[in-house]
Amino acid sequence: MCEIIFNEFGPSKVIYLYSKKVLLRAIVVVDNTALGSSIGGVRVSPTVSTEEILRLARTMTLKNSVAGLPHGGSKAGILADPKNPQKEDYFRVFAKMIKDLQEYIPAPDMGSDEEAIAWIWDEIGRACGLPEEIGGLPLDKLGATGFGLSECAGVACPYVGIDLKGARVAVQGFGSVGKAAARFLSEKGAVLVAASDTKGTIYNVEGIDVDKLIEIKQSTEAVINYPEGMRMDADDLFYLDCDILIPAAIPDVIHEKNADTIKAKLILQGANIPATRSAEEILMRRGILSVPDFIANAGGVIMAAMEYAKKTEQEAFDAISSKIKKNTKLILEKATKDKILPRIVAEDLAKEKILKAMRCRGC
Ligand code: NAD
Repeated sequence: MCEIIFNEFGPSKVIYLYSKKVLLRAIVVVDNTALGSSIGGVRVSPTVSTEEILRLARTMTLKNSVAGLPHGGSKAGILADPKNPQKEDYFRVFAKMIKDLQEYIPAPDMGSDEEAIAWIWDEIGRACGLPEEIGGLPLDKLGATGFGLSECAGVACPYVGIDLKGARVAVQGFGSVGKAAARFLSEKGAVLVAASDTKGTIYNVEGIDVDKLIEIKQSTEAVINYPEGMRMDADDLFYLDCDILIPAAIPDVIHEKNADTIKAKLILQGANIPATRSAEEILMRRGILSVPDFIANAGGVIMAAMEYAKKTEQEAFDAISSKIKKNTKLILEKATKDKILPRIVAEDLAKEKILKAMRCRGC
């Protein structure tokens, strides 16, 4: 795996942080900065690994390049429980420890919300994805990534003969991204039939009321408490009959062992690296279209970059819509014509820009 990650693009820095004072253990990877200072989320999880952070940082390099942002890619991981009551302490210590790493701009990710990012900003004056009270465009609250996924769906559906109006959607991971994707897709006429979180899956062929499910998830922390529907195990969501599947949780959930059983016609990768390369190849052989993460879920980082450039909320939504629609079309046109994985087309596009910038900078 590491031979794939360590190549001409990076990483340029892999840093391990440890503070005895608050028992902070963290990893920061700055992958590539040829296009500008790097943006990358801070993931908080007790199981986050160096390999995961390396792969996610590379995804950010590709994502920022394809989205035409003046930023490179990076990622950080804090090894901790996101519900740890000491969270503010270790975020503030983390911030102080990365103060001089000017080429890294931290942003939210799984386990770190806008408030946590505000603690970093408060310490070092450098972060994006801030609360609106301190001048930010709160990308999770506004549903930037979910909005982008719904725009991506509008372009991708015709490639697999789906009408978005009435399309049955299953969302794995009903968190910030999953909830917003369900909300924006239902506004476009799609029907949420299944949603999952770590506690299980709720399934209803007749359709799930998205606002009600959001309320239930908010108050009880589990989608299975939605009263009308069948309760199933979390992983059962991947076998359900649906048109659009959105993995919006953790890496590598679509793999060689379940790619053969997926029934959706279209997969929109809401999470970063949710499918292995071999799973994407199996899906393609089966005629299932999978739009890669760094195209489909770029909404969040586009909004973060717009905030950093002091743009308005409306300008950010306009940028998400136009960039994601344009890139989805570009990639799917070529992938369909040449019968190759959309990911390969997207990677080539991203890498071309980075290589040019690297040549200009003599790296
Ligand atoms: P979140 O923490 O708000 O939500 C994650 C959800 O996934 C939670 O509801 C959790 O219960 C659920 N989950 C975790 N493991 C699961 C499992 N095994 N099965 C089912 N559900 C599971 O996180 P988020 O911000 O929504 O991010 C989700 C993914 O999207 C991550 O991969 C993240 O990197 C990616 N992403 C997020 C953004 C963003 O704007 N937040 C942007 C781009 C990509």
